[in-house]
Amino acid sequence: MMIELQSFAAGKWVAPDGNARQMFSAVTGEMIARGGAALDTDAMIRYAVEVGGPALRAMDFHARARMLKALAQHIDSRKEELYALNPLTGATRADGWIDIDGGIGTMFVYASKGRREMPEGHVYIEGETEQLSRNGTFLGQHVAVPLRGVAVHINAFNFPIWGMLEKLAPALLAGVPCIVKPATATSYLTEACVRVMLSSGFLPDGALQLIIGGTGDLLDRLGPQDVVSFTGSADTALMLRSNPHLLKRGTRFIAEQDSLNCSVLGPDVTPDAPEFDLFIKEAAREITTKAGQKCTAIRRIIVPQAQFDAVADALSARLSGTRIGDPALESTRMGALAGASQKQDVITNLRRIAEEAERICGDPDLMQVDGADAGAGAFLPPTLYRCSDPDSARNVHEIEAFGPVSTVMPYRDLDHACDLANRGGGSLVASVITHDPQVAREVVLRSGAWHGRIYINDRDSMGEATGHGSPLPHMIHGGPGRAGGGEELGGIRGVLHYMQRVAVQGSPDMLTSVTGQWVPGSGEKKAPAHPFQLTFDEIEVGHTINTAQRQVSLEDIEHFAAFTGDTFYAHMDEAAAAANPFFPGRVAHGYLLLSFAAGLFVQPDPGPVLANTGLNSLSFQKPVSPGDSLWVRLTARRKTRRTDTYGEVRWHATLYNQDDEQTAAYELLTMVSYSR
Ligand code: NDP
Repeated sequence: MMIELQSFAAGKWVAPDGNARQMFSAVTGEMIARGGAALDTDAMIRYAVEVGGPALRAMDFHARARMLKALAQHIDSRKEELYALNPLTGATRADGWIDIDGGIGTMFVYASKGRREMPEGHVYIEGETEQLSRNGTFLGQHVAVPLRGVAVHINAFNFPIWGMLEKLAPALLAGVPCIVKPATATSYLTEACVRVMLSSGFLPDGALQLIIGGTGDLLDRLGPQDVVSFTGSADTALMLRSNPHLLKRGTRFIAEQDSLNCSVLGPDVTPDAPEFDLFIKEAAREITTKAGQKCTAIRRIIVPQAQFDAVADALSARLSGTRIGDPALESTRMGALAGASQKQDVITNLRRIAEEAERICGDPDLMQVDGADAGAGAFLPPTLYRCSDPDSARNVHEIEAFGPVSTVMPYRDLDHACDLANRGGGSLVASVITHDPQVAREVVLRSGAWHGRIYINDRDSMGEATGHGSPLPHMIHGGPGRAGGGEELGGIRGVLHYMQRVAVQGSPDMLTSVTGQWVPGSGEKKAPAHPFQLTFDEIEVGHTINTAQRQVSLEDIEHFAAFTGDTFYAHMDEAAAAANPFFPGRVAHGYLLLSFAAGLFVQPDPGPVLANTGLNSLSFQKPVSPGDSLWVRLTARRKTRRTDTYGEVRWHATLYNQDDEQTAAYELLTMVSYSR
């Protein structure tokens, strides 16, 4: 088999030329593909910025989220084409699941979050409106809008699909076109996935381009509206982020680079505790999955001095039983590294670790490889080191052997464990396996600043915990210092990396116009009928009703108390209520006011309003005494299409007394049909 890989540049597939690089099977060492060509990078940027960007920005967040969903479904329907190539990278089917299904799943999560957490509009609203003036005529609102440049994604060899999709999904949701540059070694898998995506027809022209091989002068041409998001080694990250053009123009640079992640066994855990087995299983899984070529893999295993021998013995026994072989075989638990040069890098790094630690498992001379030639393929056994003096050691804290390798080291007390954890100089993830909540709290307080994620697991969560090494689209992926100082994913946070936050200041009407969300103080509109009789499309943001007044009597309060059982003294006992600094005497229940409010603003006939689905941000400002009257102002605040038949309308509800003093405010959520 010999694959001719093509780049996709400025709308055209470009075949390999004299610049082509070669790719080799991780299992046999044979050449399997070649690709790379001189590309017109200026045309690529223009294609992205002039064709892709406007097309993506013409869609709103929900349209782009629907596009992601369709794209994810399409890749899912053709994923076996990707699984067919996966073993060439050395990865087993289980490894491929993390890469291929993991990537598709990440895209689905962004599709769903885009529709649930972003507006059906073009401006993302961040946080609450800030009142900047005494009378509320001048307000502030943070919003975010898509960058108007291109996102360049430079990815590592270990996850050719997930690595692409986890960057692509948030960037496309933001509305920014992308140029993907996979690591050459496994770029045949990325190329196959890009072909699947481009052939789907779901992506607008210019939204996605692909570079196989070198990037040429692409980075030198980027500007202030562009983003480079890089995953790979610290050395390459430093070289790329030091590019004077990027520095001069302030191009955003996000780096996720190698990291000395660790796992800490809590001081409370002894070999008879369920957490002990859990610890061994998690550590073994991180060492063997993807043959340890995971940016989040556990490189340092930090255990209480009293358990040092027990952990070392249990873990090396477990690792020694790992079946190594052709990743295409079902019996294989661990495949090969991505290639010969990767294997050589790991061997070089193992020598440095061996200067400070003793190997207790993983003799390559004793390695058995099923169904493949151990010499031709990039195979290495799971390798465990034991470092008795981690305080004076340096290499074990600084050298990332990017393979099936880890080092066990002892700690004296929890402070010492945290100090060792932090000696990685900044990592993507640290885990702590403990059943003691105080240990978990101490680790987060002492070590949180050094790690992008802290994963805590014990007997209560182990049935459902997602694993030390799994970056989830919901949670941030990245870490300080050595790990690159960047962040990816983290739900909508990941989308904001491709957007500009703007602090918008102006009158309420201006903010309503900018955000599409009604702001208190902004103009109110009179609806042609009661808004509950209007369909979703007929309701306009700003439609307002001011209700009639209703008096609240002592009988109402007593009736409500008896009916609901809420006989709290503030409603029932005049002397006790008056002694409370919040109340002048007996007052109406807050929930009674809400019920009366609904009675005042509801239009009772069957109509387009289908359901009241919730209430947000309820606050009571002024108590209501017997004899006071109540009226309500209800304004349509924000509309969002939810399904093919109905959408959500959020209403701003404000309750006033007879003196027009505000007594309560909240946001009411309703589902409203598109038809009558
Ligand atoms: P590299 O840093 O060498 O490469 C990462 C990406 O950068 C690849 O796509 C590579 O492309 C690209 N690249 C390299 N040089 C340039 C350049 N001058 N201009 C533009 N792009 C460039 O990492 P590898 O993937 O080779 O892995 C090497 C080491 O990185 C591993 O051994 C491991 O230690 C670490 N690593 C860390 C990861 C993490 O997430 N923490 C993930 C993967 C690797 P090309 O392949 O064409 O050179």
